[in-house]
Amino acid sequence: MSLGIGVTAIRTTINGDMSVIVSSASDFNIVKNSISASAISSKIEVSLPIKLRPRFIVFNIDSSINPNTFRTGLTSQNADIRSAIGSADTSLKFVREISKRGSDTHKHIIFETSPAVFNAFHKNKRVFSDHSSYRFEETLRVRQCFKCGKLSQIAENCRSSITCSHCSGSHDQKDCPDKSKPDSANCSNCSVYNQRNPKSTHAVNHTSYSPQCPLCIRQISFLRQRLDYGC
Ligand SMILES: [Zn+2]
Ligand SMILES: [Zn+2]
Ligand SMILES: [Zn+2]
Repeated sequence: MSLGIGVTAIRTTINGDMSVIVSSASDFNIVKNSISASAISSKIEVSLPIKLRPRFIVFNIDSSINPNTFRTGLTSQNADIRSAIGSADTSLKFVREISKRGSDTHKHIIFETSPAVFNAFHKNKRVFSDHSSYRFEETLRVRQCFKCGKLSQIAENCRSSITCSHCSGSHDQKDCPDKSKPDSANCSNCSVYNQRNPKSTHAVNHTSYSPQCPLCIRQISFLRQRLDYGC
């Protein structure tokens, strides 16, 4: 059977099932209609992806401040955010705290928002709480293993060997003999991708954490498609 649709990705789920992701709403409807008319309809689930809420990280907050107190400050001291929240208390949710590297006195806090609160944040350059102003930015759920550098993986589940994020060698990046030489950067992910896809011409002269890495860029664009920006 040929449907003439665009397939974005084929994945194996954690349960061992296969998932096929199509590229547009019209392709989704073609697949849905042809499966429901077929004999295999009871064996295949067709559903729209669940959209995730956007997240913000607010930087450099005094460690002694309770995150819920900080959240209350955000809702009471920023008019745009307060009116976007309205009576929906779940539209600004505390997610977690992150320690600030090298600091015992300050931390960062991640919040999850509704699309309306997301837009209200963006009307401001800084947000107020605790009668101080804070820098913030959107944060995406990019997963990258700090042991082997692979994307969509975290180190707790990693069975790969340690791989330098700078040069792809078999050592930790902090022990890399070439880490101060930008010309020696070699992205392990793009190198493997090029080997597996002989037609691929991804440049490899960047680190595996580089925002210029084409695989990181693709991952970010995929994550953005799953976020609910209200449009
Ligand atoms: Zn890993
Ligand atoms: Zn290295
Ligand atoms: Zn790369």
